[in-house]
Amino acid sequence: MASPEKSDNHDAMNFVNGEYRIGKSGKKFNNISPVNGSLISIVHEASEDDVDDAVKAARAALTGSWGTMQLAERLKLVTAIVGGIQARFNDFLDAEVADTGKPVSLASHLDIPRGAANFEVFADMMKNHHDECFRMPTPDGTGALNYTVTKPKGVIGIICPWNLPLLLMTWKAGPALACGNTVVVKPSEETPSTAALLGEVMNDVGVPPGVYNVVQGMGPGSAGEFLTKHPGVDAITFTGETRTGEAILQNAAVGVRDVSFELGGKNPAIVFADCDMDKAIEGTIRSAFANCGQVCLGTERIYVERPIFEKFVGRLKAGAEDLICGAPEDSTTSLGPLISKEHQAKVLSYYALAKKEGATVVTGGGVPEMNEMNEGAWIEPTIWTGLSENSAVLREEIFGPCCHITPFDTEEEAISMANDTPYGLACSIWTEDLTRAHRVGPQMAVGICWINSWFLRDLRTPFGGSKQSGIGREGGTYSMEFYTELSNVCVKL
Ligand code: NAD
Repeated sequence: MASPEKSDNHDAMNFVNGEYRIGKSGKKFNNISPVNGSLISIVHEASEDDVDDAVKAARAALTGSWGTMQLAERLKLVTAIVGGIQARFNDFLDAEVADTGKPVSLASHLDIPRGAANFEVFADMMKNHHDECFRMPTPDGTGALNYTVTKPKGVIGIICPWNLPLLLMTWKAGPALACGNTVVVKPSEETPSTAALLGEVMNDVGVPPGVYNVVQGMGPGSAGEFLTKHPGVDAITFTGETRTGEAILQNAAVGVRDVSFELGGKNPAIVFADCDMDKAIEGTIRSAFANCGQVCLGTERIYVERPIFEKFVGRLKAGAEDLICGAPEDSTTSLGPLISKEHQAKVLSYYALAKKEGATVVTGGGVPEMNEMNEGAWIEPTIWTGLSENSAVLREEIFGPCCHITPFDTEEEAISMANDTPYGLACSIWTEDLTRAHRVGPQMAVGICWINSWFLRDLRTPFGGSKQSGIGREGGTYSMEFYTELSNVCVKL
């Protein structure tokens, strides 16, 4: 078994106890470019033994140097990870862009900077953390003093999706480490590279071995299942599809492990006739098509008040047709490919279903001609009108650059249609009427409701989904609630 200090052979390796390794079973699979179908790297799949080694290393670090480290020293290390990522910015950027095919312009402004910031934000939060004290009278008059003690939860299993790989992984690893936990990360099989690369940064800045571990592989029968079933994992934080969440929840039930789930969505936007049309169009172009529609918070259902319906549809169509599919490094590119041919087939199946069910295809609906990149997972941004609210296209998460637009006549009708979904992650309301905004916003059955914006994130605020879009909230002190165990010490005076 190899254990080089760096993953410098370009293979995506496992990172266990501070060392890179291939899987003990020797199993591997190909990491394929979504841009042109070429081979990016070989991924070394972790066996059950590798996962066990990673969990044991994480446990040992908890009772070893990491667990006994002073808070200030720990937070200094967590903050140093930010500098470590920034120093290797281009390596992270290249790895993320290769795995996802997303435009460099997007990854360089969002994925990598936010991936680094997640360590800083939560280190700062822990610096300012204070415990609480409660004085209590007792019948004998001497009283008692209670105080809280915030402890790390233990070994955290982190299961990640492929749409924003570094950003969403560090959104969990950042607070987990700041709170004193150790982690075993299972990146998506589609995007194994940045999680592996982060191991180098951990070693470079002096994070002790075993604090941050990475196991590569798939879900069922592979690293995902091995990790979530492992009894040495104290809590599981997962971002991905709702159905996968159901499978992980069953594993977490054994041993009653805590979970935090950020799951799928079928997010609505409501556009009132009194909106600022330019803002609503600009925001909806982003919310429907950014990252090729592969954003959990993205808009797939749009409800537009009837007097402006035709105008809105026409302008959104023009905006979608202005998007340029192209190579990630091309500065004119605004739309990358989908993550894989498999996902392309799934999204195209909804494109076909929409047509079959009688949708009016306002724009798109197919695969663009990409010449030498035709082997990639390209897809046209697509807008439909005319489907019934019961259509699977309007009920199921598609996770592609597509949306359906429905007209409405009253505020009540719009709220009711927007909320009529098993999901409850996010929505956007577009109106210049402040009273209406404050009246409608709280009625939306979602974790986050944006008024006249989308994806505007203050990392201190609670983030998560209601209904089938998640369990729990992360962000700011809400992350701390998940990543720490609170004890109360009661002292009789
Ligand atoms: P996915 O559920 O297919 O996979 C996510 C991860 O789970 C992968 O690492 C996968 O290998 C692993 N996995 C799959 N089956 C497993 C099992 N049985 N046990 C353990 N691990 C398993 O999701 P995806 O396709 O990678 O990502 C897209 C989905 O993620 C969409 O539904 C999207 O809405 C959701 N998402 C949600 C948020 C949010 O914040 N709510 C953010 C991003 C993405």
